[in-house]
Amino acid sequence: MPELPEVEAVAERLRAAAPWARIVRARRERASALADGRRAEGRRILAVDRRGKNLLLRLEGGWFARAHLRLSGDLRVLPDARLRPATVRAWFELEDGRAVALDDPRALARISLHAEQEEEELFRDLGPEPFSGAFTAAWLYESARRTARPAKIWLMDQRTVAGLGNIYAAEALWEAGISPLRPARSLTKARVERLHRAILGVLGLALESVRAAYERPGAFAEGEFYPVAVYGREGEPCRRCGAPVRRTPQGGRSTYHCAKCQK
Ligand SMILES: [Zn+2]
Repeated sequence: MPELPEVEAVAERLRAAAPWARIVRARRERASALADGRRAEGRRILAVDRRGKNLLLRLEGGWFARAHLRLSGDLRVLPDARLRPATVRAWFELEDGRAVALDDPRALARISLHAEQEEEELFRDLGPEPFSGAFTAAWLYESARRTARPAKIWLMDQRTVAGLGNIYAAEALWEAGISPLRPARSLTKARVERLHRAILGVLGLALESVRAAYERPGAFAEGEFYPVAVYGREGEPCRRCGAPVRRTPQGGRSTYHCAKCQK
């Protein structure tokens, strides 16, 4: 599932395709893939932003398109709207013949159109962006103190920090030497500070890895671009202490960690 680094890389690739011609038509193969698409017609894309795991296409006239890629979606520019893969579920046809297309093999990704006044309400439950000034170690510590949930579940909650998902939450906890199963509120201030540094380090490295993967055609497959320490490595030796990595079901997902050096 695309997390912050993957979604940011998609945003960067879209930005590189500017300037944009006007959107002439909003089309969809499936009703669920695009809501209120006609609101985009006749407007130009002015900018591409990201909020958490959401992509925002800023449009003329105070509107924006919000895309959520879910498990396997991608938003990209096609040189010719008529030549689109069968996995494209919705697309905006541009005046110059190109298209901005939502390509998703699993057909779970969504685009919806909103007025800019709705933005605050739409992202009300989204926590601070990790690379913004609002995401501080002090903020993270206050958040940890207020929850009885295990560290990993707390970290994946988008209210704690925007954009972190299953892979990078597991990697950040390994980096910080914290067990994903430990209650978040049992963490000392010093350990939360270490976790804060680990989150920024892991996301920064992930973003570099994803950018590099985009430059190698065919290399962009899940988990192949980031040098994972624990995620998906059940039974393999921990890169720090050599103990076997464990997989534990947690919150309906698999959590990977080293029981020896993550306490
Ligand atoms: Zn270990």
